[in-house]
Amino acid sequence: VDDHFKAADLREDKLLGGLLADGFDAASCLSRYQSFLYRKTSPHKPFPYLLSKLRNYEHLHRRCGPHTLSFNKTLKQFKSSHSIGSTDCKYIVWISFSGLGNRILTLASAFLYALLTNRVLLVDQGKDMADLFCEPFPDKSWLLPQDFPITHEFKGFNQDSPQCYGKMLKNNIINTSTESVPSYLYLHLTHDYGDHDKLFFCDEDQAFLAKVPWLVMKSNNYFVPSLFLIQSFEHELGRLFPEKGTVFHHLGRYLFHPSDHVWGLITRYYQAYLAKADERLGIQIRVFDTGVGPFNHVMDQILACILNEKLLPKVNMQESVVNLSEKPKLKAVLVTSLNSGYYENMRNMYWEHPTISGDFVGFYQPSHEEYQQTEKGLHNRKAWAEMYLLSLTDVLVTSSWSTFGYVAQGLGGLKPWILYKPENRTAPDPPCRRAMSMEPCFHAPPFYDCKAKKGIDTGVVVPHVKHCEDMSWGLKVV
Ligand code: GDP
Repeated sequence: VDDHFKAADLREDKLLGGLLADGFDAASCLSRYQSFLYRKTSPHKPFPYLLSKLRNYEHLHRRCGPHTLSFNKTLKQFKSSHSIGSTDCKYIVWISFSGLGNRILTLASAFLYALLTNRVLLVDQGKDMADLFCEPFPDKSWLLPQDFPITHEFKGFNQDSPQCYGKMLKNNIINTSTESVPSYLYLHLTHDYGDHDKLFFCDEDQAFLAKVPWLVMKSNNYFVPSLFLIQSFEHELGRLFPEKGTVFHHLGRYLFHPSDHVWGLITRYYQAYLAKADERLGIQIRVFDTGVGPFNHVMDQILACILNEKLLPKVNMQESVVNLSEKPKLKAVLVTSLNSGYYENMRNMYWEHPTISGDFVGFYQPSHEEYQQTEKGLHNRKAWAEMYLLSLTDVLVTSSWSTFGYVAQGLGGLKPWILYKPENRTAPDPPCRRAMSMEPCFHAPPFYDCKAKKGIDTGVVVPHVKHCEDMSWGLKVV
């Protein structure tokens, strides 16, 4: 009986509490069923309703995915400029755009939107999506076929594209009571979007968009918090996520499985440098200042945060050897940064001096790529591996405004210590604060009351959508 229960527990762990569908060919993607060996079991259990929603989505994706009968039928609508009656399957196409952290967050947002609107999510492959991630849905690909009629137009889509929903509203080409529905619309949801684009977050507009077979979306923002403010989604979101601040934690672990190549980068690094430590601390350093680091004010800030919050023991500057504890602990610190200077400073400090507790601290930084190179293959694979490795730590320190850090905290289920953004090249005081929740921050939310048709502070409408710790105008789910 014991063995039976153990086997059931193991299966439950392997599937992340039922989040993952069983029955994938394990060899098709090593990380999918191995991730539980590296990650502590999450204390946040996905709610049964979310699990049934995911299973239903998989069913829908199987029926409507690329090259199915329904897909081919709906695709024909592209040839006609207006949609012919209602279609069996409706789609949301996600355009690959921006840095990897941003992409992961927008893709999770698009998937939640698909769940809420019964659409099928299809992913523009861009340069490297297939290279970075495994397929998340059983049997049918999430990748948009390469010969999709408008793929070559994706790059050029912007606020002024004729198919842009906001632009069409602005020019009175359509309004929400228009009878004839276009076969597709482009949704411009990047940080520079205008007031008409932002009407996407209104109930009336959602009722209209629900009739459009193809929605094509470009975003570089985690727009989930504003979905919580759309009344028609409120009830369903409450059922899916009774524990509100777990949206990205669950959807992220459901969707994003590192490809075998990236899984190799992750597991080799973890086994070689992190596995044997008693405690793991992650420090994600992202400096948005111009000029080449390392900067003294950033170094001071990191140390102040780590020592004030007792994330690492202090070093003893007087003694050359300290032998206090019977069983000294081994602490591994994983540093990620484009620059190696911060890591070298900290490593030297803990090599040149003993800790006051007698514990040992090792520092590890997988890469220092110097600058962002979004178009390069191995660069993005390393970036993805590093976000994932950060998510495997026990305690996390992140930088303000960085989606790279948001991905790590969300996957890991960690409430990080967020380093405040330095102003005028001085270390802020206090240097950091604990995050309210592990959710990412929406950097460019609308401030509009759709019903009253006037501006409001959307950060005070409901208790579970608040302004972010690291960006006063941003919104996050807590
Ligand atoms: P954000 O700009 O911090 O919000 O994060 P993004 O991931 O969207 O874009 C930053 C990009 O810069 C990453 O995708 C990487 O390409 C690169 N990058 C930034 N920080 C690091 C780092 O610590 N390690 C690695 N390998 N790449 C980084």
